[in-house]
Amino acid sequence: MSIAELFKTKNTVYSFEIFPPKKTSSVDTIYSTLDQLKGLKPDFISVTYGAGGSVANCLTCEIASIVKNKYGIRPLAHLTCVNSTRQDVAEILRQLKESGIQNIMALRGDINPDIPRKNDFKYASDLVKFIKENGDFHISGACYPEGHVESADLIEDIHNLKKKVDAGAEHLVTQLFFDNSAFYSFVERARIAGINVPISAGIMPVLNKNQIERMVSLTAASLPAKFTRMISKYEHHPEALRDAGIAYAVEQIVDLVSNGVQGIHLYTMNNPFVARRITESISSIISI
Ligand code: FAD
Repeated sequence: MSIAELFKTKNTVYSFEIFPPKKTSSVDTIYSTLDQLKGLKPDFISVTYGAGGSVANCLTCEIASIVKNKYGIRPLAHLTCVNSTRQDVAEILRQLKESGIQNIMALRGDINPDIPRKNDFKYASDLVKFIKENGDFHISGACYPEGHVESADLIEDIHNLKKKVDAGAEHLVTQLFFDNSAFYSFVERARIAGINVPISAGIMPVLNKNQIERMVSLTAASLPAKFTRMISKYEHHPEALRDAGIAYAVEQIVDLVSNGVQGIHLYTMNNPFVARRITESISSIISI
């Protein structure tokens, strides 16, 4: 079943994001993360794609295959295109198909001045078209409640998002946000623009101050006053900040579900402890 189809069977689709282990660790370290995430019964797990990774030994493909074939969970394999040729992407599609993976998150990828850009794909929508033409995959895409950092304004961003959906993206996952009202306004703009595919809200629990500073510099997510107060109060108390971050994420999710969100996508950062604490707090809410 495609991920988009899943939304027809449930009120709230609940999913996780994981990333492949760093180059210095063995791929086997992902097993202990997945052993623990499996018990939380996500509807799917997405696996990120690292910039400049090896096409011949695609780690994302390998882990997505483990998610599917060892853990019996539906995987969503991320794939970026800005540093890839058409041949590279065709090779990855071959590997995904061989592992029985049907769902791909098609992304442009960030522009990294240290990695030479290839010219075969300019936008994620180009990748969506290529995947549609070269295989029988279901496609998800990224979206930005507060606008993508390179967009001139929110309206231009929505027009560009519509192009991605028109090209064949059947489901969207948002970038992290800490202010739910930004998400609600985004969904309204998207629906007005005729974007009618299911949208999963991406929720990132805050675990430490450095992580937040990094995320905010990358995404320009706005920080509500109650959020910044929480960070300042607990920044020197790691355990308290972690617990406050979990409580903040739970509160965001309860509000989103009460307002009819279609999907919650938890950025787990490969931290099953945090994923478990959040999931236990919301399990009865998301199962209604
Ligand atoms: P696009 O949809 O191509 O958009 C990029 C910019 O171009 C936007 O400003 C958009 O408005 C504009 N644009 C799009 N189409 C057009 C057009 N036709 N004409 C003019 N302008 C246009 N990065 C990774 O490296 N690996 C990952 O696994 C990964 N996973 C992610 C998952 C999620 C849920 C999200 C939100 C982001 C993820 N990213 C990942 C980061 C992502 O690669 C970056 O945000 C990147 O800068 C944009 O990717 P995109 O697919 O949204 O690009």
